[in-house]
Amino acid sequence: MIKLGFPSLSTSIGQIPIEEAANIACEVIKEFLNSHKNDLDFQLILIDQDDQNLNVFESEWEKFRDSEESRFQMKLGNFAEIIIENKIGLKPDTTPLSKSLYEAIGSKLFEEIKRLYPKPGAIGEAYPVPIPPDNEFWKKGVKQIIYIISPNMNPSRPDPVSLEVAKNALKESYQSMLNAFWALKNGQQYIPKEQQSQEKSAFDVMMDFARNTFSTSKPKKKSSSTHIGSWSTVLLPYCEHPETFSNREVYSYDDNVVIIWDKYPKAKIHLLVMPRQKIDTLQELEKQDLNLIEILKQKGQQVIDHFKENDPKLVFRMGFHVLPSLRQLHMHVISQDFISETLSSKKHWNSFTTSFFKDIEEIEMLLKEKGQIKVCLGKYLLSLLKSPLNCHLCNTKEIKNIPTLKKHLEEHLNSDGQ
Ligand SMILES: [Zn+2]
Ligand SMILES: [Zn+2]
Repeated sequence: MIKLGFPSLSTSIGQIPIEEAANIACEVIKEFLNSHKNDLDFQLILIDQDDQNLNVFESEWEKFRDSEESRFQMKLGNFAEIIIENKIGLKPDTTPLSKSLYEAIGSKLFEEIKRLYPKPGAIGEAYPVPIPPDNEFWKKGVKQIIYIISPNMNPSRPDPVSLEVAKNALKESYQSMLNAFWALKNGQQYIPKEQQSQEKSAFDVMMDFARNTFSTSKPKKKSSSTHIGSWSTVLLPYCEHPETFSNREVYSYDDNVVIIWDKYPKAKIHLLVMPRQKIDTLQELEKQDLNLIEILKQKGQQVIDHFKENDPKLVFRMGFHVLPSLRQLHMHVISQDFISETLSSKKHWNSFTTSFFKDIEEIEMLLKEKGQIKVCLGKYLLSLLKSPLNCHLCNTKEIKNIPTLKKHLEEHLNSDGQ
């Protein structure tokens, strides 16, 4: 029995409404099962951590399924755990499991996916990657991973599209996934259609996949393991006594929020927006803090609007480091030129240009949907900081070093100015 485990595509970070997505998925799955009526030696398993999502899928599937059909199943729980459990019958054990999945996906498979698919992938396409035989996962019966580049409607993620476009691309994504699965099941090669000029590389997609998969199931509140470096308290005095600082340090403040200039700006404009109330990290946030998030967002937007008045060409992002090095929740408002004398390391660069940086919209959405912010494995996040230097504006990958990167950024600045 060959099994395919898959998550609900594009419905969390990708923001396709679950009802629409479930309808599309069930329709494609039904078609697929119909066209392979006599093959009973496989199973498709939808895995989701959210029982509400599964309920939507279940009621949608009721409209499509034949009463005899058992080749499509749904399971509630952690993706990686269920994969292992179903392939090999091991008891799920989060820590070594996550570790082995990380090792499978994080390093060896990363090299493999780059080798197999050097060009950026196409939305709606599937990219099978065999797990190397010396890998623990392979030994435990998991032989292939299929990367899907599914559509995105989230405006704070790359290449957002409208609902209509997303629905078509989602259908293609499920079809590609099942076609790839079918080819692999029958020992054939699946060749993705010619890769297209998407900004998003298969590598980015893999990282998204990894990030979604590795969230720990029970985040610890006030845990001391959710930051890097020494847990510095330098931000606290600004929140306690903003009135004692000059306007060269404090940009503005009120009863709820204080905004300061980042002491080591990594771009032309780089400020930090913080709540006055003491909150260490994102992990402490709960649904009731959505108000606060809204306030931070509004304040950040005011800062952006102010600076864009003087320089309309400036582009900004506002968001958080997933593993911050300073105590006290602080939202970065940072212009995307990254022209800065204090930007001097790979770590600096990757902390603002990989998924180590989470946009405020993403935090808001996670809080709305899940009621909490989960943190990935620290090891995985730290590996993001060691990623190659890729340009955040164009497709230039693996820039040699920081001076070369800086030259490259200057070129963007100059050509954008024309
Ligand atoms: Zn920070
Ligand atoms: Zn570039």
